[in-house]
Amino acid sequence: MEILKKITECRSIVNNIKKRGLTIGFIPTMGFLHEGHLSLVRKAKKECDRVFISIFVNPIQFGPGEDFVNYPRDIKRDISLAEKGGVDYIFYPTAKEMYGSDFKTAIEVKELGDIMCGKYRPGHFAGVTTVVLKFFNIIRPDRAYFGQKDYQQLVIIKRMVYDMNLDVKITGCTTVREKDGLALSSRNKYLSAGERKNATVLYGSLIEAKRMIKKGEKDLEKIRKTIMIKLKKNRFIKKVDYFDFRDPGTLEYIKKVNEGNRNILAAIAVQIGRTRLIDNMVIKV
Ligand code: AMP
Repeated sequence: MEILKKITECRSIVNNIKKRGLTIGFIPTMGFLHEGHLSLVRKAKKECDRVFISIFVNPIQFGPGEDFVNYPRDIKRDISLAEKGGVDYIFYPTAKEMYGSDFKTAIEVKELGDIMCGKYRPGHFAGVTTVVLKFFNIIRPDRAYFGQKDYQQLVIIKRMVYDMNLDVKITGCTTVREKDGLALSSRNKYLSAGERKNATVLYGSLIEAKRMIKKGEKDLEKIRKTIMIKLKKNRFIKKVDYFDFRDPGTLEYIKKVNEGNRNILAAIAVQIGRTRLIDNMVIKV
């Protein structure tokens, strides 16, 4: 495994791989790797000749007052996990390498970036799409892998690829969870023991919504209100950003289980202590 810190280094490796007619799979990450990231690596290894990951805590996707400075970082551990997971190249640039000192461009997927998490994290998704497009241009992957855990991000990236005619296949991968249902996330590290125990409330709410839908409840607003009341009563939850039902393709808000028999995305974002956690589930109706 090689660690590449410079864009030029990365480009010359990519050129060699392409000259040999080999395919590249790519997984962008912010590091502090866990089994969720490694499941994406495994998928990429099955489908591609060479696997790149990036490890970059992208400053432009964090808002003022968010956790950019405190975001968990452990590059030594990441290198060892990536190596064991079979990653071929880690792209590990500095912010200066990525943005220099006079960066002026932003890629933004309109509307989709303003709802759900975008409403509470203005500019976040533009930061994500901008850095992902830069990575795509540097690494030129044939395939790129994203977790369904960040469902809105996956939809937005797919839309950017479609709108900008990018020649990369985007694959969404199943959310990896702890035994008690909590979705793996680098941010789980922030949770105190009590918070960690109560963090199962995210998955619990999704399961509860699924159960009500499966029982035949068609009024999603009613389910939403029932769940919101429970969430607001939980003393570990400092703030509920949203619990929404959305169309899994368009992210359009839905109020009723539909005549069209479509799947329903249930998505949740809450703050537990000082930690913002998200989760979601696609419910088949
Ligand atoms: P991050 O380092 O948190 O930016 O995540 C990098 C990639 O890993 C993103 O595509 C995430 O959606 C994905 N990912 C994060 N957590 C999980 C998980 N628990 N299961 C599957 N994919 C995940």
